[in-house]
Amino acid sequence: MKPIVAIVGRPNVGKSQLFNKLIGRRVSIVEDTPGVTRDRIYGETDWNGRQFTLIDTGGIEPRTDNLILEFMRDQAQTAIETATVIIFLTDIRTGLTASDHEVANMLLRSGKPIVLAVNKIDSTGAPDPDFYEFYNLGLGDPIAVSAVHGHGTGDLLDACVAYFPPRDGGGGGGRRHPRGGHRQAQRGQILPGK
Ligand code: GDP
Ligand code: MG
Repeated sequence: MKPIVAIVGRPNVGKSQLFNKLIGRRVSIVEDTPGVTRDRIYGETDWNGRQFTLIDTGGIEPRTDNLILEFMRDQAQTAIETATVIIFLTDIRTGLTASDHEVANMLLRSGKPIVLAVNKIDSTGAPDPDFYEFYNLGLGDPIAVSAVHGHGTGDLLDACVAYFPPRDGGGGGGRRHPRGGHRQAQRGQILPGK
């Protein structure tokens, strides 16, 4: 089975825009109205010769009693469970929000590898000082992207592919440690459970 990359994040951060940019066809619906993508949308693409399935999710609004937003959150949860790697998309225009922290916790509970991206950074050059806030999520280095222009999407895909299982399989499809890939000690490194 091909690796699966799921794009998750709050509504309106640009998940569908990013999906369309990566898939190269306008199959997903981009709207100014939060919550327009209500279901999961799948596409096939490849990067550096690695084929994978990309999933666009409707988005996660952590605290809501709106039925549609609840449904979208459940759909996103299913996508998270299916994913090999999760792209956690955030938005420089809104900055880091309390909901982003809650989504991050939800993602961390899944145990899946997470690649953090900050979208709507449309101009290249010195990054907006707000960009550094996203380090507070504790998910490592954020990747600056513009889903509209495509800036940063190569770095984003490189970071995702780094978590894919090795191409040649070697040994019959056993599950690998999500953050490790191969459980092979670097010099001086102690592996958990060894
Ligand atoms: P989703 O709800 O996360 O799927 O968000 P959408 O992809 O529907 O985008 C929400 C809004 O953000 C739309 O108005 C998009 O045009 C806008 N948007 C998405 N990506 C970018 C970007 O890279 N730069 C800018 N300036 N706007 C963006
Ligand atoms: Mg959408």
